[in-house]
Amino acid sequence: MVIAYLVVPRDQYTPFDAHYFPGAETTTARLSEPKNYRTADDPTDVTVLCAELACWVGDELWLSDPKSIGELVEGDLKRADLPTTNHVHCEVQRLGSVYPVYEHSTVQARQTIKNWVGQPKRIMSLGRQGLGVPDNLHHVLTMGSRAAEAVNKSGSIDVIEWQRSLGEFSKHVVQD
Ligand SMILES: Cc1cc2nc3c(=O)[nH]c(=O)nc-3n(C[C@H](O)[C@H](O)[C@H](O)COP(=O)(O)OP(=O)(O)OC[C@H]3O[C@@H](n4cnc5c(N)ncnc54)[C@H](O)[C@@H]3O)c2cc1C
Repeated sequence: MVIAYLVVPRDQYTPFDAHYFPGAETTTARLSEPKNYRTADDPTDVTVLCAELACWVGDELWLSDPKSIGELVEGDLKRADLPTTNHVHCEVQRLGSVYPVYEHSTVQARQTIKNWVGQPKRIMSLGRQGLGVPDNLHHVLTMGSRAAEAVNKSGSIDVIEWQRSLGEFSKHVVQD
């Protein structure tokens, strides 16, 4: 995933926490404005937008320069009838592994891993990639605590306890 931070010289871009773009006509999948998530001592003359652009490591988008990525996001926002940002800077972070990817071609492989994850012997798998779920931060923190609790003093895994926790995790509902 390419994450583009657009520095915008105004107090607020829109009053919304995030805009979602599920269609294929935009490269940007989500645009969030962190300032809107909180009440804090933020500067009043600037806001920063966080655009998430899904891609594969090494593809054309991954290799694009920050200026082009900023222009691409700007074009996406225009197509979505959102205001121009007039951003003065675009800071880019490239993350090789962010969201689990559900490809048709990997259905069987993911099922095999799911079966294996539920019967741990010496290795526990958890978190977004570890369980193939798009969970929130508080969800994965809970997973970490539950994993620690499922390990006995001898170092062995309490499989029944862990399976109970996996059942709880499956009820997680993603929040924004
Ligand atoms: C832009 C953005 C905004 C978000 N905002 C919020 C929010 O406001 N509130 C909220 O609750 N959640 C938010 N989330 C979700 C939150 O970031 C995740 O729920 C959380 O980070 C998941 O934790 P994790 O440990 O499962 O995975 P990660 O934090 O993704 O950690 C996995 C780690 O494993 C590494 N890794 C992956 N593959 C390999 C490999 N093959 N070998 C070695 N290392 C590897 C990765 O580099 C990464 O460091 C946001 C996510 C994004 C992308």
